[in-house]
Amino acid sequence: MKITFFSTQPYDRKFFNACNESFGFELEYFETHLGPHIVNAIEHTDVVCVFVNDKVNAAVIEVLAQKQVKIIALRCAGFNNVDIEAAKKYNIHVCRVPAYSPEAVAEHAVTMMLALNRKIHKAYNRVREQNFSLNGLLGFDVHGKTIGVIGTGNIGKAFCKIMLGFGCKVLAFDVIANKEIEALGITYLPLIDVLKQSDIISLHCPLNDLTKHLVNEQTIALMKKGVMLINTSRGGLIDTKAVIDALKNGQIGYLGIDVYEQEEKLFFKDLSADIIPDDTIQRLMSFPNVLLTAHQAFFTQEALSQIASITLNNIKEISEGKKPAHQAALLA
Ligand code: NAD
Repeated sequence: MKITFFSTQPYDRKFFNACNESFGFELEYFETHLGPHIVNAIEHTDVVCVFVNDKVNAAVIEVLAQKQVKIIALRCAGFNNVDIEAAKKYNIHVCRVPAYSPEAVAEHAVTMMLALNRKIHKAYNRVREQNFSLNGLLGFDVHGKTIGVIGTGNIGKAFCKIMLGFGCKVLAFDVIANKEIEALGITYLPLIDVLKQSDIISLHCPLNDLTKHLVNEQTIALMKKGVMLINTSRGGLIDTKAVIDALKNGQIGYLGIDVYEQEEKLFFKDLSADIIPDDTIQRLMSFPNVLLTAHQAFFTQEALSQIASITLNNIKEISEGKKPAHQAALLA
């Protein structure tokens, strides 16, 4: 059985090759994204394995079906980039890795929050230039602050637990309340109230039609002046233009983002010698109170090992006509 990977980096090959020793699949790697530009070049493969920025829309899926591809295996949790209905129409299975290391992403969200608050990104450079002054580095105690969590699934839940450990009051909004974390002391409130009452807001819901631009001009206006906003989920949850306006007028005091709406043209590439034509990201990077990482929240050794093993297991089980061990892994 052959699996063709798209959007691969050296670390993908390392972890998948190691894991495949116990599966024995034929693996083929492409660096390019999967999308309309490349789908016609696919030959004799049973499975395409894709990541967050591959474009698997209806047109791409139609070609995959013509090429007898049986499975689209996402090696990530989010699946907003795959047209599930089109896959169902052409009887192509779609699977994902619903949970690998939720702690990896939750810990990165906390890292961004602490780095922004204590201005570690500035302090690091300052000390290297022998500037040992503290002026401009003043932070605040996270202990005792109110944290708003939007989406309390695997990652949101892990994030809530860490914030409880910090001694914070944790408010949450989700379409389904999680009894386990409610019992730990988290309070579920309507979205509006979470936005109004929180000092720090962290987004952990998926991107879909309901959540697109959940953070927009109107919802930002509800937030506390100087709020800290953290997004490790998907770029499309935020209307970037509205956020830039709010950073300019001080309504948003700190922004930590690991995801960006137009990230597919930038992230996972070394563009250090290029002129970036995207003025929006350049504007974001110009703020001293914005911390941007390039979709690295998942990027831990534990997460990469689990991603490889769950993805190959999903493919094995589906190809044998079984349901994947993780119930939420099978999307079509
Ligand atoms: P999950 O499915 O376990 O949890 C998502 C939660 O969001 C669920 O509890 C769900 O009920 C809730 N939700 C759905 N619609 C909502 C809405 N309209 N408003 C509020 N809550 C809503 O997913 P997860 O594993 O916790 O991952 C969350 C997101 O994190 C993924 O969708 C993905 O986009 C993102 N992610 C990012 C990285 C990264 O490296 N930056 C890595 C993994 C996942």
